[in-house]
Amino acid sequence: MFLFILFILGSSFGSFLTALFYRIEHHESLLGFSHCDVCKHQLEVIDLIPIFSYLFNHGRCRYCHKTYSSFTFVNELFLGTVFPLLFIETKSMLSLLIIVYLFYLSLEDMHQQMVSNIILYSLLLIVFIFSLPFSRLIVLMPIYFFFYLLNYNYHFIGEADIDLFAILFLLIGNNILLVIFISSLLALVAYPFFKQLNGKIPFIPFIYISYLMFLCIKK
Ligand SMILES: [Zn+2]
Repeated sequence: MFLFILFILGSSFGSFLTALFYRIEHHESLLGFSHCDVCKHQLEVIDLIPIFSYLFNHGRCRYCHKTYSSFTFVNELFLGTVFPLLFIETKSMLSLLIIVYLFYLSLEDMHQQMVSNIILYSLLLIVFIFSLPFSRLIVLMPIYFFFYLLNYNYHFIGEADIDLFAILFLLIGNNILLVIFISSLLALVAYPFFKQLNGKIPFIPFIYISYLMFLCIKK
């Protein structure tokens, strides 16, 4: 039963974060009810149930019958699946919270090639509150500034990628090397596909997938 609740929670986060990202990206108000993007009809509760609304309505608007993008549905399904599976592996609600943050940062990086500082800072705050990583902070500071200055001159990676690696280091210590290795490997494999699209490769989604993989294999 608890795992089913996590499934509902994960899919709800998938729905909420995608809608939040969409509204911010399109400079829409964060308040007010959701509506169909085509006919602007206000959506009712039955249209807003994660995963099931998309399936029941065959991916279409109930009012104007235009086909919806499957992007929100995929995100709902993804987090709905990840939440219970990850909890089985980690028994940690903190890991689910970190995953929610990484999910939103990935959305931003994929669509805008930049992320919100406020999201990064609040993730840093959560890591500080829950894991009190003061000894790791002493190790991190000189390494962080070294790579920050190196990257400032040579731009081999996004600033937010370095910030995110630093935050994850505070959380998982030396295991960050494994996350860096896996994410770099995945990005290298995917690079030819992104090169065909626009040449830019968003790195945070790869950090996200690698962190997920690390959580599943760390036992
Ligand atoms: Zn419509």
